[in-house]
Amino acid sequence: MSDKPNPDPFFDLIMDEDLAKNQWPAKIDQFKKDETHVSLMAQAMTREKFEILKNHKTKTAGWTIARAMNTGTCYPSSSVGCHAGDHESYTDFAKLFKSVIESYHKGYNLDKDKHVTDFEVTKISVDLSEQARSKIISTRIRVARNLDFFPLNPGGTQQSRLDIIKLIEELALTLEGDLKGELFRHTTMTPEQNRRLVDGHFLFKGKDKMQAASGHHERWPIDRGIYLSETKEFILWINEGDHLRIISMEQGGDVKHVFERLGRGITAIENGLKKITGKDPVFMSDDTLGMITCCPSNLGTALRASVHICLPKLIAKMGLEGIDKIARESYCQARGSGGEHSEVIDRVDISNWRRLGFKEYELIEDMINCVNVLALMENDIPSR
Ligand code: ADP
Ligand code: MG
Repeated sequence: MSDKPNPDPFFDLIMDEDLAKNQWPAKIDQFKKDETHVSLMAQAMTREKFEILKNHKTKTAGWTIARAMNTGTCYPSSSVGCHAGDHESYTDFAKLFKSVIESYHKGYNLDKDKHVTDFEVTKISVDLSEQARSKIISTRIRVARNLDFFPLNPGGTQQSRLDIIKLIEELALTLEGDLKGELFRHTTMTPEQNRRLVDGHFLFKGKDKMQAASGHHERWPIDRGIYLSETKEFILWINEGDHLRIISMEQGGDVKHVFERLGRGITAIENGLKKITGKDPVFMSDDTLGMITCCPSNLGTALRASVHICLPKLIAKMGLEGIDKIARESYCQARGSGGEHSEVIDRVDISNWRRLGFKEYELIEDMINCVNVLALMENDIPSR
Protein backbone atom coordinates (compact mmCIF):
# COMPACT_ATOMS: atom_id res chain seq x y z
CA MET A 1 0.00 0.00 0.00
CA SER A 2 1.45 3.38 -0.92
CA ASP A 3 1.36 6.46 1.25
CA LYS A 4 -1.49 8.84 0.74
CA PRO A 5 -0.54 11.96 -1.25
CA ASN A 6 -0.40 14.96 1.01
CA PRO A 7 -1.19 18.40 -0.44
CA ASP A 8 0.99 20.30 2.00
CA PRO A 9 3.03 17.71 3.78
CA PHE A 10 5.47 19.90 5.59
CA PHE A 11 4.01 22.78 7.45
CA ASP A 12 0.39 22.01 8.26
CA LEU A 13 -1.12 19.41 10.45
CA ILE A 14 -2.92 17.16 8.00
CA MET A 15 -5.52 14.98 9.67
CA ASP A 16 -6.84 11.79 8.21
CA GLU A 17 -10.37 12.64 7.01
CA ASP A 18 -12.13 10.16 9.31
CA LEU A 19 -10.07 11.13 12.33
CA ALA A 20 -10.75 14.81 11.58
CA LYS A 21 -14.45 13.96 12.13
CA ASN A 22 -13.54 11.91 15.21
CA GLN A 23 -14.65 8.73 13.44
CA TRP A 24 -12.97 5.33 13.41
CA PRO A 25 -10.87 5.15 10.22
CA ALA A 26 -12.12 2.02 8.51
CA LYS A 27 -8.89 1.92 6.48
CA ILE A 28 -7.14 0.56 9.58
CA ASP A 29 -9.27 -2.59 9.33
CA GLN A 30 -8.05 -2.81 5.73
CA PHE A 31 -4.38 -2.38 6.75
CA LYS A 32 -4.78 -5.28 9.15
CA LYS A 33 -6.39 -7.43 6.48
CA ASP A 34 -3.61 -6.67 3.98
CA GLU A 35 -0.99 -7.54 6.60
CA THR A 36 1.52 -5.22 4.97
CA HIS A 37 2.79 -2.09 6.66
CA VAL A 38 0.86 -2.67 9.85
CA SER A 39 2.15 -0.06 12.28
CA LEU A 40 2.22 -0.90 15.98
CA MET A 41 -0.65 1.59 16.38
CA ALA A 42 -2.75 -0.22 13.76
CA GLN A 43 -2.04 -3.55 15.44
CA ALA A 44 -3.11 -2.18 18.80
CA MET A 45 -6.18 -0.16 17.84
CA THR A 46 -9.66 -1.49 17.26
CA ARG A 47 -12.97 0.18 16.57
CA GLU A 48 -14.12 -0.85 20.07
CA LYS A 49 -11.16 0.85 21.76
CA PHE A 50 -11.67 3.94 19.62
CA GLU A 51 -15.33 4.22 20.62
CA ILE A 52 -14.39 4.06 24.32
CA LEU A 53 -11.62 6.65 24.01
CA LYS A 54 -12.91 9.04 21.38
CA ASN A 55 -14.44 11.70 23.62
CA HIS A 56 -11.61 11.90 26.12
CA LYS A 57 -9.25 14.87 26.24
CA THR A 58 -6.12 14.80 28.41
CA LYS A 59 -5.90 17.46 31.11
CA THR A 60 -2.63 19.16 30.14
CA ALA A 61 -2.78 19.27 26.34
CA GLY A 62 -6.35 18.28 25.50
CA TRP A 63 -4.76 15.41 23.54
CA THR A 64 -7.20 13.03 21.86
CA ILE A 65 -7.03 9.49 20.56
CA ALA A 66 -7.64 10.88 17.04
CA ARG A 67 -4.53 13.06 17.24
CA ALA A 68 -2.56 10.25 18.89
CA MET A 69 -3.19 7.79 16.04
CA ASN A 70 -3.05 10.17 13.07
CA THR A 71 0.44 9.35 11.77
CA GLY A 72 -0.12 5.64 11.33
CA THR A 73 -3.54 6.28 9.83
CA CYS A 74 -2.24 8.76 7.23
CA TYR A 75 0.93 6.76 6.58
CA PRO A 76 0.54 3.00 6.82
CA SER A 77 4.28 2.63 6.18
CA SER A 78 5.06 4.26 9.53
CA SER A 79 6.33 1.66 11.94
CA VAL A 80 5.11 3.02 15.28
CA GLY A 81 2.31 5.28 14.06
CA CYS A 82 1.25 7.10 17.24
CA HIS A 83 2.33 9.98 19.47
CA ALA A 84 1.70 11.39 22.91
CA GLY A 85 0.74 15.03 23.49
CA ASP A 86 1.60 15.09 27.18
CA HIS A 87 2.70 12.81 30.02
CA GLU A 88 -0.80 11.61 30.88
CA SER A 89 -1.49 10.53 27.28
CA TYR A 90 0.38 7.35 28.19
CA THR A 91 -2.03 6.50 31.01
CA ASP A 92 -5.25 8.02 29.68
CA PHE A 93 -4.79 6.19 26.37
CA ALA A 94 -3.18 3.07 27.84
CA LYS A 95 -5.49 0.95 25.70
CA LEU A 96 -3.40 2.11 22.76
CA PHE A 97 0.00 2.85 24.27
CA LYS A 98 0.47 -0.15 26.57
CA SER A 99 0.31 -2.53 23.68
CA VAL A 100 2.50 -0.33 21.44
CA ILE A 101 5.13 0.09 24.17
CA GLU A 102 5.26 -3.60 25.02
CA SER A 103 5.48 -4.52 21.33
CA TYR A 104 8.32 -2.10 20.56
CA HIS A 105 10.21 -2.61 23.81
CA LYS A 106 10.01 -6.40 23.67
CA GLY A 107 10.25 -8.10 27.05
CA TYR A 108 9.42 -5.00 29.09
CA ASN A 109 6.46 -5.48 31.41
CA LEU A 110 4.68 -2.22 32.24
CA ASP A 111 2.95 -3.75 35.25
CA LYS A 112 6.15 -4.92 36.93
CA ASP A 113 9.34 -3.46 35.49
CA LYS A 114 11.09 -0.25 36.51
CA HIS A 115 13.47 1.69 34.30
CA VAL A 116 16.93 2.45 35.71
CA THR A 117 19.47 4.90 34.28
CA ASP A 118 23.28 4.52 34.26
CA PHE A 119 25.71 6.64 32.23
CA GLU A 120 28.88 5.17 33.77
CA VAL A 121 31.43 5.00 30.94
CA THR A 122 33.71 2.56 32.75
CA LYS A 123 30.92 -0.05 32.78
CA ILE A 124 31.08 -0.43 28.98
CA SER A 125 32.59 -3.90 28.81
CA VAL A 126 33.26 -4.24 25.07
CA ASP A 127 35.45 -2.44 22.56
CA LEU A 128 35.28 -1.79 18.86
CA SER A 129 37.52 -4.15 16.93
CA GLU A 130 40.35 -2.60 14.94
CA GLN A 131 38.67 -3.53 11.67
CA ALA A 132 35.40 -1.89 12.79
CA ARG A 133 37.15 1.26 13.97
CA SER A 134 38.94 1.68 10.66
CA LYS A 135 35.62 1.78 8.78
CA ILE A 136 33.88 4.31 11.04
CA ILE A 137 33.46 7.85 9.79
CA SER A 138 31.78 9.35 12.83
CA THR A 139 30.02 8.58 16.09
CA ARG A 140 26.91 10.25 17.46
CA ILE A 141 24.90 9.60 20.60
CA ARG A 142 21.71 11.48 21.31
CA VAL A 143 19.02 11.49 23.91
CA ALA A 144 15.61 13.11 23.84
CA ARG A 145 14.48 15.16 26.82
CA ASN A 146 11.20 16.94 27.50
CA LEU A 147 10.55 19.56 30.15
CA ASP A 148 8.14 18.52 32.85
CA PHE A 149 6.28 21.81 32.97
CA PHE A 150 5.16 22.02 29.32
CA PRO A 151 2.99 19.76 27.17
CA LEU A 152 4.93 17.59 24.73
CA ASN A 153 5.34 19.47 21.46
CA PRO A 154 2.67 17.63 19.42
CA GLY A 155 0.19 18.79 22.09
CA GLY A 156 1.90 22.12 22.64
CA THR A 157 1.16 25.63 21.47
CA GLN A 158 3.00 28.49 19.84
CA GLN A 159 3.45 29.94 23.35
CA SER A 160 4.87 26.71 24.84
CA ARG A 161 7.42 26.38 22.03
CA LEU A 162 8.40 30.03 22.47
CA ASP A 163 8.78 29.60 26.26
CA ILE A 164 10.96 26.53 25.69
CA ILE A 165 13.37 28.16 23.27
CA LYS A 166 13.65 31.25 25.48
CA LEU A 167 14.52 29.04 28.43
CA ILE A 168 17.16 27.19 26.42
CA GLU A 169 18.61 30.51 25.23
CA GLU A 170 19.06 31.50 28.86
CA LEU A 171 20.51 28.09 29.71
CA ALA A 172 22.89 28.21 26.74
CA LEU A 173 24.67 31.20 28.24
CA THR A 174 25.63 29.13 31.29
CA LEU A 175 27.32 26.22 29.46
CA GLU A 176 31.09 26.15 29.80
CA GLY A 177 34.29 24.46 28.63
CA ASP A 178 33.83 22.09 25.68
CA LEU A 179 30.03 22.53 26.01
CA LYS A 180 30.23 26.28 25.41
CA GLY A 181 28.67 27.48 22.18
CA GLU A 182 25.94 29.46 20.47
CA LEU A 183 22.23 29.05 19.76
CA PHE A 184 20.86 29.74 16.30
CA ARG A 185 17.15 30.08 15.58
CA HIS A 186 15.78 28.77 12.32
CA THR A 187 14.07 32.08 11.68
CA THR A 188 17.35 34.02 11.67
CA MET A 189 19.45 31.47 9.75
CA THR A 190 20.02 31.97 6.06
CA PRO A 191 18.81 29.11 3.83
CA GLU A 192 22.49 28.50 3.00
CA GLN A 193 23.46 28.15 6.70
CA ASN A 194 20.54 25.81 7.23
CA ARG A 195 21.49 23.66 4.26
CA ARG A 196 25.13 23.42 5.33
CA LEU A 197 24.13 22.31 8.84
CA VAL A 198 21.69 19.71 7.49
CA ASP A 199 24.19 18.41 4.93
CA GLY A 200 26.87 18.22 7.65
CA HIS A 201 24.53 15.95 9.72
CA PHE A 202 24.30 18.52 12.50
CA LEU A 203 20.74 19.77 12.04
CA PHE A 204 17.31 18.21 11.62
CA LYS A 205 15.71 18.63 8.25
CA GLY A 206 12.12 19.22 9.28
CA LYS A 207 9.97 18.71 6.22
CA ASP A 208 9.14 15.11 7.05
CA LYS A 209 5.61 14.13 6.11
CA MET A 210 5.25 11.66 8.96
CA GLN A 211 6.50 14.16 11.51
CA ALA A 212 4.03 16.68 10.08
CA ALA A 213 1.17 14.25 10.65
CA SER A 214 2.36 13.79 14.23
CA GLY A 215 2.03 17.52 14.83
CA HIS A 216 5.77 18.25 14.93
CA HIS A 217 5.77 20.92 12.26
CA GLU A 218 3.11 23.34 13.42
CA ARG A 219 4.11 26.93 12.65
CA TRP A 220 7.42 25.68 11.32
CA PRO A 221 10.11 27.07 11.52
CA ILE A 222 9.13 29.46 14.31
CA ASP A 223 10.84 28.73 17.65
CA ARG A 224 12.97 25.90 16.28
CA GLY A 225 16.71 26.12 16.72
CA ILE A 226 20.07 24.51 17.23
CA TYR A 227 22.79 25.07 19.81
CA LEU A 228 26.29 24.23 18.61
CA SER A 229 29.41 24.04 20.75
CA GLU A 230 32.48 25.70 19.28
CA THR A 231 33.73 22.40 17.82
CA LYS A 232 30.19 21.26 16.85
CA GLU A 233 30.69 18.18 19.05
CA PHE A 234 27.99 19.04 21.57
CA ILE A 235 24.64 19.99 20.10
CA LEU A 236 21.10 20.71 21.19
CA TRP A 237 18.10 20.51 18.90
CA ILE A 238 15.31 22.72 20.13
CA ASN A 239 11.66 21.94 19.39
CA GLU A 240 12.19 19.48 16.55
CA GLY A 241 9.71 16.91 17.86
CA ASP A 242 10.76 16.53 21.47
CA HIS A 243 11.57 19.73 23.35
CA LEU A 244 15.26 18.86 23.34
CA ARG A 245 17.59 16.46 21.66
CA ILE A 246 20.95 16.45 23.40
CA ILE A 247 23.66 15.23 21.05
CA SER A 248 27.33 14.39 21.37
CA MET A 249 29.14 13.63 18.11
CA GLU A 250 32.58 13.62 16.58
CA GLN A 251 34.61 12.23 13.72
CA GLY A 252 36.03 8.73 14.21
CA GLY A 253 35.07 5.88 16.52
CA ASP A 254 35.93 7.00 20.05
CA VAL A 255 32.53 5.89 21.34
CA LYS A 256 33.48 6.16 25.01
CA HIS A 257 34.59 9.74 24.63
CA VAL A 258 31.36 10.66 22.86
CA PHE A 259 29.35 8.92 25.61
CA GLU A 260 31.30 10.62 28.40
CA ARG A 261 30.67 14.08 26.90
CA LEU A 262 26.99 13.30 26.48
CA GLY A 263 26.58 12.27 30.13
CA ARG A 264 28.36 15.41 31.26
CA GLY A 265 26.29 17.57 28.91
CA ILE A 266 23.00 16.15 30.15
CA THR A 267 23.99 16.80 33.76
CA ALA A 268 25.00 20.39 32.95
CA ILE A 269 21.67 20.99 31.24
CA GLU A 270 19.63 19.41 33.99
CA ASN A 271 21.42 21.37 36.72
CA GLY A 272 21.28 24.59 34.71
CA LEU A 273 17.54 24.23 34.14
CA LYS A 274 16.94 23.49 37.82
CA LYS A 275 18.77 26.66 38.76
CA ILE A 276 16.95 28.88 36.26
CA THR A 277 13.45 27.52 36.87
CA GLY A 278 13.70 26.56 40.53
CA LYS A 279 11.97 23.29 39.58
CA ASP A 280 13.02 19.74 40.36
CA PRO A 281 12.65 17.50 38.46
CA VAL A 282 13.02 19.38 35.19
CA PHE A 283 12.79 16.44 32.80
CA MET A 284 9.50 14.63 32.25
CA SER A 285 9.93 11.06 33.49
CA ASP A 286 8.48 8.31 35.63
CA ASP A 287 9.74 5.10 37.21
CA THR A 288 8.11 2.80 34.68
CA LEU A 289 8.56 4.65 31.39
CA GLY A 290 11.85 6.39 32.16
CA MET A 291 12.17 9.55 30.08
CA ILE A 292 8.86 10.59 28.55
CA THR A 293 9.04 11.30 24.82
CA CYS A 294 6.42 12.03 22.20
CA CYS A 295 7.18 8.83 20.26
CA PRO A 296 6.75 5.63 22.32
CA SER A 297 9.83 4.11 20.65
CA ASN A 298 12.05 6.63 22.46
CA LEU A 299 10.76 6.03 26.00
CA GLY A 300 13.23 4.91 28.66
CA THR A 301 16.73 6.06 27.90
CA ALA A 302 15.57 8.01 24.80
CA LEU A 303 19.08 7.19 23.60
CA ARG A 304 20.24 6.35 20.11
CA ALA A 305 23.96 5.64 19.76
CA SER A 306 25.10 5.41 16.17
CA VAL A 307 28.11 5.23 13.98
CA HIS A 308 28.33 6.19 10.34
CA ILE A 309 30.25 3.32 8.84
CA CYS A 310 31.52 2.43 5.36
CA LEU A 311 30.40 -1.05 4.35
CA PRO A 312 30.58 -0.88 0.53
CA LYS A 313 30.69 -4.65 -0.07
CA LEU A 314 27.80 -5.40 2.27
CA ILE A 315 25.79 -2.55 0.71
CA ALA A 316 26.43 -3.96 -2.77
CA LYS A 317 25.58 -7.49 -1.65
CA MET A 318 22.43 -7.00 0.42
CA GLY A 319 21.44 -3.31 0.46
CA LEU A 320 20.23 -1.37 3.48
CA GLU A 321 17.41 -3.82 4.12
CA GLY A 322 19.76 -6.80 4.30
CA ILE A 323 22.13 -4.97 6.64
CA ASP A 324 19.18 -3.95 8.80
CA LYS A 325 18.08 -7.59 9.11
CA ILE A 326 21.50 -8.60 10.38
CA ALA A 327 21.71 -5.60 12.70
CA ARG A 328 18.35 -6.55 14.25
CA GLU A 329 19.88 -9.82 15.46
CA SER A 330 22.15 -7.81 17.72
CA TYR A 331 19.46 -5.34 18.85
CA CYS A 332 20.44 -2.68 16.35
CA GLN A 333 19.05 -1.13 13.19
CA ALA A 334 20.42 0.36 9.98
CA ARG A 335 19.41 3.77 8.63
CA GLY A 336 20.47 5.61 5.47
CA SER A 337 23.23 8.20 5.17
CA GLY A 338 20.91 11.12 6.00
CA GLY A 339 19.12 9.55 8.97
CA GLU A 340 15.67 8.03 9.36
CA HIS A 341 13.70 7.52 6.12
CA SER A 342 16.78 8.30 3.97
CA GLU A 343 18.71 6.34 1.36
CA VAL A 344 22.22 4.95 1.63
CA ILE A 345 24.57 7.14 -0.33
CA ASP A 346 28.03 6.25 0.92
CA ARG A 347 27.64 5.29 4.57
CA VAL A 348 25.27 3.35 6.77
CA ASP A 349 23.98 4.52 10.15
CA ILE A 350 24.05 1.65 12.67
CA SER A 351 22.39 2.22 16.05
CA ASN A 352 20.71 0.51 18.98
CA TRP A 353 16.92 0.25 18.77
CA ARG A 354 16.29 -0.90 22.35
CA ARG A 355 15.75 1.96 24.77
CA LEU A 356 13.44 1.02 27.66
CA GLY A 357 14.47 -1.31 30.48
CA PHE A 358 18.19 -1.05 29.73
CA LYS A 359 20.90 1.16 31.14
CA GLU A 360 22.48 3.67 28.81
CA TYR A 361 25.89 1.97 28.83
CA GLU A 362 24.27 -1.37 27.89
CA LEU A 363 22.83 0.19 24.74
CA ILE A 364 26.27 1.48 23.79
CA GLU A 365 27.44 -2.14 24.12
CA ASP A 366 24.64 -3.25 21.75
CA MET A 367 25.89 -0.82 19.12
CA ILE A 368 29.57 -1.79 19.53
CA ASN A 369 28.76 -5.52 19.31
CA CYS A 370 26.69 -5.05 16.17
CA VAL A 371 29.29 -2.91 14.43
CA ASN A 372 31.97 -5.54 15.17
CA VAL A 373 29.79 -8.24 13.56
CA LEU A 374 29.13 -6.14 10.45
CA ALA A 375 32.81 -5.18 10.06
CA LEU A 376 33.77 -8.85 10.20
CA MET A 377 31.19 -9.71 7.54
CA GLU A 378 32.40 -6.87 5.34
CA ASN A 379 35.98 -8.14 5.56
CA ASP A 380 34.86 -11.69 4.75
CA ILE A 381 33.40 -10.67 1.39
CA PRO A 382 36.11 -11.08 -1.26
CA SER A 383 36.99 -7.91 -3.14
CA ARG A 384 36.35 -8.10 -6.83
P1 ADP B 1 17.66 10.96 15.47
O1 ADP B 1 17.62 9.63 16.11
O2 ADP B 1 18.54 11.88 16.21
O3 ADP B 1 16.32 11.56 15.24
P2 ADP B 1 17.95 10.83 12.56
O4 ADP B 1 17.90 9.47 11.97
O5 ADP B 1 16.77 11.72 12.40
O6 ADP B 1 18.35 10.67 14.09
O7 ADP B 1 19.25 11.56 12.02
C1 ADP B 1 19.57 12.88 12.38
C2 ADP B 1 20.85 13.33 11.73
O8 ADP B 1 21.96 12.78 12.41
C3 ADP B 1 21.00 12.89 10.28
O9 ADP B 1 21.60 13.94 9.55
C4 ADP B 1 21.96 11.73 10.36
O10 ADP B 1 22.67 11.49 9.17
C5 ADP B 1 22.87 12.21 11.47
N1 ADP B 1 23.63 11.13 12.09
C6 ADP B 1 23.18 10.01 12.68
N2 ADP B 1 24.18 9.24 13.13
C7 ADP B 1 25.32 9.90 12.81
C8 ADP B 1 26.72 9.62 13.00
N3 ADP B 1 27.13 8.53 13.64
N4 ADP B 1 27.60 10.53 12.53
C9 ADP B 1 27.21 11.65 11.90
N5 ADP B 1 25.92 11.97 11.72
C10 ADP B 1 24.99 11.11 12.16
MG1 MG C 1 14.84 11.74 13.91
